[in-house]
Amino acid sequence: MSRPGPDFTLEGMRELLLRGGTPWRHPGPADVLVRDGTITAIAPRLTEPGAEVIDIAGRLVLPGLVEAHCHLDKTLYGREWEPHSAGDALADRITNERTRRGGLGLPDPDNAAALLERMVAYGTSHVRTHTDVYAGAGLDGVEAVQEAARRLDGRVTVEQVAFPQSGILRNPGTAELLAEALKSGVSTIGGIDPAGMDRDPVRHLDVVFGLAERFGAGIDIHLHDGGALGAFELELIIERTRATGLTGRVTVSHAYALGQIDAAHQDRLAAGLAEAGITVTTAAVFDFPVPPLKRLRAAGVTIACGHDDIRDLWSPYGSGDMLERAMHVAYRSAFRRDEDIEIALDAATHGGARALGLPAYGLAEGSPADLVVVTADTPAAAVVTRPPRDLVLKAGRVVARDGEPVR
Ligand SMILES: [Zn+2]
Repeated sequence: MSRPGPDFTLEGMRELLLRGGTPWRHPGPADVLVRDGTITAIAPRLTEPGAEVIDIAGRLVLPGLVEAHCHLDKTLYGREWEPHSAGDALADRITNERTRRGGLGLPDPDNAAALLERMVAYGTSHVRTHTDVYAGAGLDGVEAVQEAARRLDGRVTVEQVAFPQSGILRNPGTAELLAEALKSGVSTIGGIDPAGMDRDPVRHLDVVFGLAERFGAGIDIHLHDGGALGAFELELIIERTRATGLTGRVTVSHAYALGQIDAAHQDRLAAGLAEAGITVTTAAVFDFPVPPLKRLRAAGVTIACGHDDIRDLWSPYGSGDMLERAMHVAYRSAFRRDEDIEIALDAATHGGARALGLPAYGLAEGSPADLVVVTADTPAAAVVTRPPRDLVLKAGRVVARDGEPVR
């Protein structure tokens, strides 16, 4: 691959022609012309006098990857290895985080920025991160993530969810802090196990949807509650989404229950989720249930994916590589055929983009030039082999090359 000159990322360079790659879902090799940060043409044998040309013949071009669920405020990424210190139960992990977080200096913008740098090198263009908001911590996490995002200087976009990790109703003051977070520019309101955590799903959803309506925010609810209970909560979320007119603005993360109920029940809920425009985001971590992705997709439900925890007090795992996360999603879904593996890749790209409400996204004329070039025979091969990212563009700017970030 030919290298752009040292001035390539400077403001003066406005046109870039990627020559000879194969854009995903295009019929064959096609050049990609980028002008002022936007894809202006995708077609074979383009010519553009004056444009910087990068030869990517034989490579695959993917749209910028979308991390739709992580926790930047919790990460220890970039530090020396921190051995996992919690017991095996969920309650142990919650207690362990509460007791150790302060001593470890969390949230730490250095760690969050280090992880974002790595995500950029892996070709991630957009990140949705759930930031803990609870009485006692105030908006420390929100500010730390804002600071980390500032340091990345537009090389990746970061959307925060104000996340009540320890519940809302059982922790007085949390609802008010969530409102403060939304006032300070956070665009999405989180929720968590309205029944299992707060033991009052109707009142929990009153707060979450009430804040969303008041601030014009989107919603992303962690739903770990399983089986019939989780399925019942999904029904409540579907009903509430319809009633509030928030169609297309609501995500349910994890939704383990969808993977645990019978097929007929899955189909009923899938139809409701599709009609309400509710995204299902999966992380496919550990042995937690993964929603039935093909069934949901067939019903028209948007699927997104993300790492959830990355190198933090909840989990020592996670790299920030969304091709790797797509592989886990595909593997846990027992996908073997290329077209099935591409469902997981779609979750790490187009599905995530829909969940985040990105107005223009993808390898199409008029979309921001957020893209990733890899050496892989097919998109499915890219998921399985996770090759180094040869070139990453964010809004037309080279932000990574040969697997390393470019500042
Ligand atoms: Zn999470």
